[in-house]
Amino acid sequence: MELNLEEAFDGPVDLSHRFEISSERLDRPELLHVEPVLFSGRLTKAHPGFVLDGEIEIRGAAACSRCLAPVPFSRSGPVHWAFAPTHRRAAREEDETELAEGDLAIIWYDDLKVPFDPLIDEELQLEIPIKPLCRPDCRGLCPTCGADRNAGPCACQTK
Ligand SMILES: [Zn+2]
Ligand SMILES: [Zn+2]
Repeated sequence: MELNLEEAFDGPVDLSHRFEISSERLDRPELLHVEPVLFSGRLTKAHPGFVLDGEIEIRGAAACSRCLAPVPFSRSGPVHWAFAPTHRRAAREEDETELAEGDLAIIWYDDLKVPFDPLIDEELQLEIPIKPLCRPDCRGLCPTCGADRNAGPCACQTK
């Protein structure tokens, strides 16, 4: 999906979209599945640029890094993006105060049509746990027979 910033010139625009996510694109082998990401929010003209405020809903599961059991993850909460034209970037580097909006990440654009999917992918990447664990003391799989050691000792251990 593309964000058409131009639409907000005359007033705020309400947006909502359901993003179908391709797991291949995310390139996270531990990811088992991910639900479509839901976004709804409001695009507003700012000075300079635009801001997009809204709510995001992320839901999925990643494989436990020890036993491969699914570990669910989810996030439902506010998101905020600021967009500013690239030509303001040089000015900003000279004068840090100009676009001072805290530690907010600014998306620089040349074109008023901004691809939205990469922004959603980025939020999703942050939500996928780096080293998922089904529980803090997961015993993992036996390296010899592959049995789930959480279920009890395997034959290899009793020998
Ligand atoms: Zn586990
Ligand atoms: Zn074993």
